[in-house]
Amino acid sequence: MTYVYDFTEGHRGLARLLGGKGANLAEMTRLGLPVPPGFTITTEACRAYLRTGTPPPALHDEVSAHLAALERRTGRRLGDGTNPLLVSVRSGAERSMPGMMDTVLNIGLTDTSVHALAARSGDERFAWDSYRRLIQMFGETVLGIDAAAFEERLAHAARPTGANDETELTAGQLERLTGAFKDIVRERTGRPFPQDPREQLDLAIRAVFDSWNGERARLYRRRERIPHHLGTAVTICTMVFGNLGPDSGTGVAFTRDPATGRQGVYGDYLPGAQGEDVVAGRRNTVPLTELARRGPRAHAELLRIMETLENHYRDLCDIEFTVERGTLWMLQTRVGKRTAAAAFRIAVQLLDQGLIDEAEALRRVTGEQLAQLMFPRFDAGAAPAPLATGIAASPGAAVGAAVFDPATAVARAAAGERVVLVRRETTPDDLDGMIAAEGILTARGGKTSHAAVVARGMGKTCVCGAEELTVDVAARQLTTAEGTVIREGDILSLDGTTGRVHRGEVPVVPSAVVEYFEGTALADADELVAAVHRIMGLADAARRLDVRANADTAEDAARARRFGANGIGLCRTEHMFLGERRELVERLILAGTDRERHAALAALLPLQRAGFTDLFAAMDGLPVTVRLLDPPLHEFLPDLTELSVRVALDRRDEDVRLLAAVRRLHEQNPMLGLRGVRLGLVVPGLFAMQVRAVAEAAAQRRAAGGDPRPEIMIPLVGTVRELEIVREDAEAVVTEVEEAHGVRLGIPLGTMIELPRAALTAGQIAEHADFFSFGTNDLTQTVWGFSRDDVEASFFAAYLEKGIFGVSPFETIDADGVGALVRTAAAAGRAAREDLKLGVCGEHGGDPESVRFFHTVGLDYVSCSPFRIPVARLEAGRAAT
Ligand code: ADP
Ligand code: MG
Ligand code: MG
Repeated sequence: MTYVYDFTEGHRGLARLLGGKGANLAEMTRLGLPVPPGFTITTEACRAYLRTGTPPPALHDEVSAHLAALERRTGRRLGDGTNPLLVSVRSGAERSMPGMMDTVLNIGLTDTSVHALAARSGDERFAWDSYRRLIQMFGETVLGIDAAAFEERLAHAARPTGANDETELTAGQLERLTGAFKDIVRERTGRPFPQDPREQLDLAIRAVFDSWNGERARLYRRRERIPHHLGTAVTICTMVFGNLGPDSGTGVAFTRDPATGRQGVYGDYLPGAQGEDVVAGRRNTVPLTELARRGPRAHAELLRIMETLENHYRDLCDIEFTVERGTLWMLQTRVGKRTAAAAFRIAVQLLDQGLIDEAEALRRVTGEQLAQLMFPRFDAGAAPAPLATGIAASPGAAVGAAVFDPATAVARAAAGERVVLVRRETTPDDLDGMIAAEGILTARGGKTSHAAVVARGMGKTCVCGAEELTVDVAARQLTTAEGTVIREGDILSLDGTTGRVHRGEVPVVPSAVVEYFEGTALADADELVAAVHRIMGLADAARRLDVRANADTAEDAARARRFGANGIGLCRTEHMFLGERRELVERLILAGTDRERHAALAALLPLQRAGFTDLFAAMDGLPVTVRLLDPPLHEFLPDLTELSVRVALDRRDEDVRLLAAVRRLHEQNPMLGLRGVRLGLVVPGLFAMQVRAVAEAAAQRRAAGGDPRPEIMIPLVGTVRELEIVREDAEAVVTEVEEAHGVRLGIPLGTMIELPRAALTAGQIAEHADFFSFGTNDLTQTVWGFSRDDVEASFFAAYLEKGIFGVSPFETIDADGVGALVRTAAAAGRAAREDLKLGVCGEHGGDPESVRFFHTVGLDYVSCSPFRIPVARLEAGRAAT
């Protein structure tokens, strides 16, 4: 087994093995870009380490061999007393986890090699600055020493000299600081800072492995649904120095604006600094154009390289670079994270530039991103003057109580409150607070700061670098330039699209994208809407799945239609029994004689019919699947306790009878009780009335010149016999209505597949069904034996925590279990009846990952709530490319 790859041996296709960072460093090396030489230890080695607690035995020798080659190539030796090689030891997983794991710079510096570095570079200050950085980073990440111990010492060193920060310390001061740092290490660990360079290297490698399981990393993976078993690669890279005087520096850049997608280079540069300083936001960066002034040659080369990278990756790239005495070095690149709006714009721009084709353009955006673009935005007319305007780092409209630390954010959010996390700048330790908050506001840092990068990745609203604000975390308050004070708990509104921060709750209006879907904004309203329009066109052309709506009112149906629905996949009829109609249902349940029951049903019939007529009108020409009554009857009856009290107070005859009925219908486990088709079979006339209402409504619409396309669906069938009996009755009713109105309605009759037994006997059931609609909510409940109403609150959190599943099976279909049943039932159904129509209704129909699954299974349609229809259309198109 090979555990180590030189940069010259890898390429970007090896991200799984080399991590994104290692793979892309290899790719840039192959492209001939200036990358400091190095090598990468595979994720495989990390997985072996995580399994056994020790690095795989072969790793040591492989590292030695690659290190020797690196030393030959650079003509230096690791930590050598005359010509030292220094390296960084960097984490890098397959999917980027910005700042969540550890990296150690300047490995190889010791009490002797520091002098060699000073002599070789002719810069003592630089040598001591690098050494103190090593001890600091190594101390924190490898030895687990509290960061504050070093920070305090650093501040202490700067203060008496009048220096503002460490950049103004002299060589002598830095040398003394290094000594102080070494003392901290000895005090805290009981051992001196390791002077053997190879020991430093090996310990750092282990620490990077371990950082895969750090608390932040685990939290981030849960949130991003990254599996916990993948492990990180470790990249060892020859050091280059941005802290080597004024013609040196370090920076981060994007090939386009990651917030808007607009073309043009965007970046931050920090002269006289090493990498970490930029992202940490501890020191203020200058725009990239500043590099043009200070190092025109390096700047020009950087622009050339960025163009090369964009064309090569055919996408927005972000990069890390360092300039050492005027020479440019590339330290990282990856296809950059971007906002949802930028994703759509960039996909269309690249398509127009001919860099990608239509299928690729579809792959470049996601349903989740589209959903984000459909969130409401602030009503500009109703917003008060902003308190401050920062950098619009990640869009959205967030409203919440100001909180100033992550723990308070988590606590208040857990109590159901909406919060906005306010920090001077964020660090990876703020992650749980960022997740809990509606939005994030920082006073420092640019578009490349930690807050901006992480918020964009999460799709969370963020305004950063609002420099007019003074954030006082200890006092839990912020102060504006005008002196307004906002305290913990005061409401703030953050506009991540404009960067404005308002006091109080600003009202929201629909997003431009929703207005476009509603037809109230034109497709060329703005660049973003035009891009969405274009992509939706591509998705609709590509998709094989129809997308229907779950809708049971004419209003919902009309919206669904505007949003592009191909019909209704689930019309629940129970709402037609609620409200004032409850009384009629009570009468039906209490009916003692056939006459009473007929009377109750006859009263319900016209109400149902009117509901269907409206629905068929709204969906004229498109299929409308009506599900016959599904929930247990007691749901329509008064609550047992309430009723008992009422009866105890005044023994009204009706209430006494009602109470008896409630007691009679009471079930321990109603979800597995008298409901669905079982109701149709034991309550005479109920389903017949509903079928009649559907058929008569259709006949009426026909007479009025409409084109109604009803389909009748029987819920909760477990055996074909149930379906046969109900079907026979229903057909008789439809025929009767057809004859009475002199029309041929041809209403398809199908069933839901939502019980394991139905799925297992799908072949038999298909003989008597015109269509199947997979009810994946109930199917998930019954396959797992989970009660959806209970488990999410009781133990799902623990299951997610333990990695038993990465996401609730009620949210994304469990492809291996529930999905396998869907797959076999679909195949068995089609084998029995070639023209069997297959669909899915239930929450999964609007979930991106599930939509892909249903596509691969070969269903005809998914059905979801009206608002999710564009998302499902897009995902169905993506699945088909
Ligand atoms: P992260 O994944 O958190 O960005 P990196 O491994 O990229 O961690 O390293 C952290 C910082 O150190 C980055 O700014 C990077 O550019 C810088 N860096 C890493 N390796 C080197 C090196 N060999 N020479 C100079 N700077 C480096
Ligand atoms: Mg990096
Ligand atoms: Mg169901």
